[in-house]
Amino acid sequence: LKAAIFHGKENMKVEEVESPKAKHNEVLVEVEACGICGTDVHILKGEYPVNGPLILGHEASGRIVEVGKEVETLKVGDSVAIDPNIFCGKCYFCRIGEAHLCRNLKAVGVTRNGAFAEYVAVPEENLYKLPKNVSYEEAALAEPLSCCIHGVDLAQIKSGDTVVVLGAGPIGLLHTQLVRILGASKVTTITGHNEEKLAFARKLGADDTINASLEDPVSKVRASSSGIGADVVVEATGNPVAVEQAIKMARRGGRVIIFGCAPEKAKIEVSPYIINDSELMIFGAFNNPYTMSRAIRLIGSGKIKTKHLISHEFGLDNILKAFETIRSGTLYLKILVKP
Ligand SMILES: [Zn+2]
Ligand SMILES: [Zn+2]
Repeated sequence: LKAAIFHGKENMKVEEVESPKAKHNEVLVEVEACGICGTDVHILKGEYPVNGPLILGHEASGRIVEVGKEVETLKVGDSVAIDPNIFCGKCYFCRIGEAHLCRNLKAVGVTRNGAFAEYVAVPEENLYKLPKNVSYEEAALAEPLSCCIHGVDLAQIKSGDTVVVLGAGPIGLLHTQLVRILGASKVTTITGHNEEKLAFARKLGADDTINASLEDPVSKVRASSSGIGADVVVEATGNPVAVEQAIKMARRGGRVIIFGCAPEKAKIEVSPYIINDSELMIFGAFNNPYTMSRAIRLIGSGKIKTKHLISHEFGLDNILKAFETIRSGTLYLKILVKP
């Protein structure tokens, strides 16, 4: 079977490999769609430590073709989405119900072979059955959406809240839709890129948009709220400058969700005085503890649109072209690989 093997920095090739085998507690999935995540791009650039040879790809969906002996809840033919995160169940964090913070976290497509391949073996507990009306393409966005749900859960968005989302990529646009159905009275989406993305954000439910390359987003948010600032700010870019802006545009007592993944060594400048004096609540949001089912239900309900977030699809043979599309600076949203 064919798979894209990551051998090391800037070295990935599509090769013929032996078919993976499902262990007793695992299932073999024929991959239908797998999204390229920012993490995959970082791994290929050598900015995120992954030891090759390894098959990447962790935002995936497919059809079950084989089940291990001990598998009880799934059968051949089932359509599933993959939750890539595998926790140990033994460390301090797993034992206090915070398994997403597991010290021995493993993940399909990051520490074990993933879904940029025709087949992938996955533990039973990491698979979620898809309702009939959810396509494989839409289901490839279940994992990113489940991470967004965790973030908004932490910040406890209330009906009527004003929310600012920094970022108009797939993650920013999922947040824009999510906070809208949670009852935000006004959603403002910001990007430093282009008008096209902002027009798209408005189509998906943003009430207002700001082009950060043309105007200062902090003063714009403050000006449009009589100087008060936003109840909730979601930082979905990972750009340290945007993180500083996010903290500055929250109201006194406001909540800031740091969702974007910044470079490990990046620093921001922030006034501790402001955090104390404004009683700011700053939440880091990492992974997707027990939010996959809700993500899939929301996609199935049609209340969160994921199909519209897919800008490109590539066959497995053209996976390098898919990565090039991301780096070339062309306008893209979610890019799917379809083995
Ligand atoms: Zn991802
Ligand atoms: Zn653990």
